[in-house]
Amino acid sequence: MSTSAANTSSVTVIGLGPMGRAMAGAYLDAGYQVTVWNRTASRADDLVARGAVRAATVGEALAANEVVVLSLTDYAAMYSILEPAVPALEGRVLVNLSSDTPGKAREGAAWAAKHGARHLTGGVQTPPSGIGSTEFNTYYSGPRELFEEYEDVLKVITGTDYRGEDPGLAALYYQLQMDLFWTALTAWLHTLALANANGISASEIQPYAAETLGGMGQFIDFYTPRIEAGQHSGDVERISMAVASLDHVVHTTRDSGVDPALPAALLEAFRRAAAEGYEEDSLTRLIAMFGRGTAAK
Ligand code: NDP
Repeated sequence: MSTSAANTSSVTVIGLGPMGRAMAGAYLDAGYQVTVWNRTASRADDLVARGAVRAATVGEALAANEVVVLSLTDYAAMYSILEPAVPALEGRVLVNLSSDTPGKAREGAAWAAKHGARHLTGGVQTPPSGIGSTEFNTYYSGPRELFEEYEDVLKVITGTDYRGEDPGLAALYYQLQMDLFWTALTAWLHTLALANANGISASEIQPYAAETLGGMGQFIDFYTPRIEAGQHSGDVERISMAVASLDHVVHTTRDSGVDPALPAALLEAFRRAAAEGYEEDSLTRLIAMFGRGTAAK
């Protein structure tokens, strides 16, 4: 049972995709009274069997508890669900764990305030399997006193990482991680296609792929202080080397009958940096090049 400053021991969860179901389940496991609502009502069946209350309407779900956890595909889904029930928003605390842009999160917080509700933006950093464990974190942003008042309630979902008052910040930190996550994971998928085309299975490449991706932290640790110091010298690696290396990757990919679009896009970026005069410099020159927005051409 919660011992938070707010002394909350009951919550409403709206949105029962894989994440929302895991969250409602974690609250039940922690001894909370849980009210749930979902557009597709049948997704609540297992939770109801475990003791959750299925609200008949969104208004009923909002009226049941002060704390309302939203786990939806995006903020547009929030508006389509909550717009018809805005009178019931007065006095609610919306913990919005739906992914969207920082701008949408700011608009969502202002919209909630207009209807008398307080809004915390959240960005969850684990799949459903990590929900209920403080080994993983969720970014939060919004009013600090609101976050602190309800932190114990939030900790039933995952650990917490408060990023600041701006409601867009949690969404921003989440999107920064998604930028990294999707590009890195897609790189692995491409590597598997290349491996498979050459008769190498996913399990055969697994230890090597895990070692290479697992070692990325060392690169980040090495380069970060140099980037902060504005040091981009080619003493460790040079853009000219990256151009040659990526050219080999593109040709190996083409020779294997695999779609080369992904490595070809990287090769093009490095070639552009070389053409800008950074051939002898480190790959970290690409940060400023991307930052100028030219990559969107
Ligand atoms: P899903 O997209 O599977 O579930 C979304 C929920 O939103 C469902 O309850 C769905 O209702 C509801 N929904 C979507 N559109 C509408 C709409 N127009 N009107 C009413 N309800 C709507 O997402 P997940 O559960 O996987 O994730 C929830 C959030 O958490 C997402 O923002 C996701 O990006 C984020 N996230 C997900 C992770 C994961 O591993 N799954 C990891 C970290 C974050 P219905 O059941 O009726 O379709």
